[in-house]
Amino acid sequence: MELSKLSLERLEGVDERLKAIVIECAARCPYPFNVSEGLRTKEQQREYVRQGKSRTMNSKHLTGKAVDLYPLTMNRKQVDWSRFEELADLMFQVAGDQDTEIVWGGHWKTFVDKCHFELR
Ligand SMILES: [Zn+2]
Repeated sequence: MELSKLSLERLEGVDERLKAIVIECAARCPYPFNVSEGLRTKEQQREYVRQGKSRTMNSKHLTGKAVDLYPLTMNRKQVDWSRFEELADLMFQVAGDQDTEIVWGGHWKTFVDKCHFELR
């Protein structure tokens, strides 16, 4: 399903390879999802670390090599918490088709971050 205008705007400054994966993933995805964040400033990152939302100042968001994706219900009004694994499967499929390696935050052991995808 097509990405919203806001989601597309949030892909600005994101690495072209990752951007291509997200756009193709949206095209193949039978339910909507949004991009909550792509490129992040140092100040934002510092704030997230302070709030405990992130644990590193070396986040790939700072270089545009990470995105956060949230699957949505069909009316796009709520996050569909049951679909993160499904969305990750599709992201890996598309990344494979495009010969790009990605990492999913849902596979992390210490700080599980299911909305997070980054280039390896
Ligand atoms: Zn992230």
